Amino acid sequence: MTMTGSRAAYFTGPGAVELRSDERPRPGPTQVLVRVRVCGICTMEQRLYNGVMDMYPVSPGHEPAGEIVEVGEDVVSVKPGDHVIISFLPRCMQCHFCRLGETDKCTTRPKSFNTKPWKFGGLSEFALAEGYQVFPIDPQVRWDHAAFGEPLACVLHNIKKANLRFGEDVLVIGGGTMGQIHVLLARLRGCRVILSEPDAEKLAMGTGHGAHLGVDPTREDLVAVARDLTAGRGVDAVFVTVGGPAGQDGLKAMRKGGRTLFYSSYYPKVEWPISPDWIHHDQVTLTGGVNQTFEDWVDAAALLSKGLVDLDHLVSGRFPLERIDEAMRLATNGRTFRVMVEMDG
Ligand SMILES: [Zn+2]
Ligand SMILES: [Zn+2]
Repeated sequence: MTMTGSRAAYFTGPGAVELRSDERPRPGPTQVLVRVRVCGICTMEQRLYNGVMDMYPVSPGHEPAGEIVEVGEDVVSVKPGDHVIISFLPRCMQCHFCRLGETDKCTTRPKSFNTKPWKFGGLSEFALAEGYQVFPIDPQVRWDHAAFGEPLACVLHNIKKANLRFGEDVLVIGGGTMGQIHVLLARLRGCRVILSEPDAEKLAMGTGHGAHLGVDPTREDLVAVARDLTAGRGVDAVFVTVGGPAGQDGLKAMRKGGRTLFYSSYYPKVEWPISPDWIHHDQVTLTGGVNQTFEDWVDAAALLSKGLVDLDHLVSGRFPLERIDEAMRLATNGRTFRVMVEMDG
């Protein structure tokens, strides 16, 4: 760590990463300065790294956790020394959605968000955040677990939106990190969980950590398995956590009155034929999930602080910031869950 600087990883083109020394920011009256301890590498960072998302140069990292070092005079949420998880999603607090409490839908970006080069702040030694963007956690929480704050908040949002009841049958499609967290939280909600995943190792990870049943959809008929298990009715809720055509099986595996939530985004965009008459007759609910509300963050902080969800098996590696390119190569090899970058250097 430099005395007044803040080293940050920048992606400068597909597969190209460099460390730059930025000036350490000073918090304004409503802001906090966070010493980032760890940041998880999510799908967005992978897409920025491999060029699927082209917005160079960019300093990514939206899954950080760290320690408050300085607070502006109007900040009341935290104090120096507090351990926090950080939501970098800007919320304007003034739009229709923010006023309804649906801050996950705020699309009003403050001008400061559009300054180039793009900087999220997670893969940096120091990051600025607004007081409303930081959520305190118990200082006993390990940093590499705390970095799951953002993914946990996302999944909590989806689980609540699907309104899972005790004893329901839930199908999770995709056994990547986000699929695995859906498995964990659906289980925590008292549901019977089926995980569908073609990769044997990911499937085994899911059945070893929460899923009651694992299905490889390339070997078994997922829809038939789901219907057999439920006296022919179909599952109560489906979470689609991967792009591609797999989500269509989820729709077929759903019972009358069931709910399907699409969590994954689709690159490239696709269109599927869906019968409005099927929606009418079967009274199904199709919805989506992206981002989180403040409430989801408070709940994620509670789950982490109280040790109510075991995430250790989803940490696939830890690298210091200097080895960011190694971390990115591991994170993008298709075989790992969360790779963590530690800023302690
Ligand atoms: Zn994320
Ligand atoms: Zn807003």
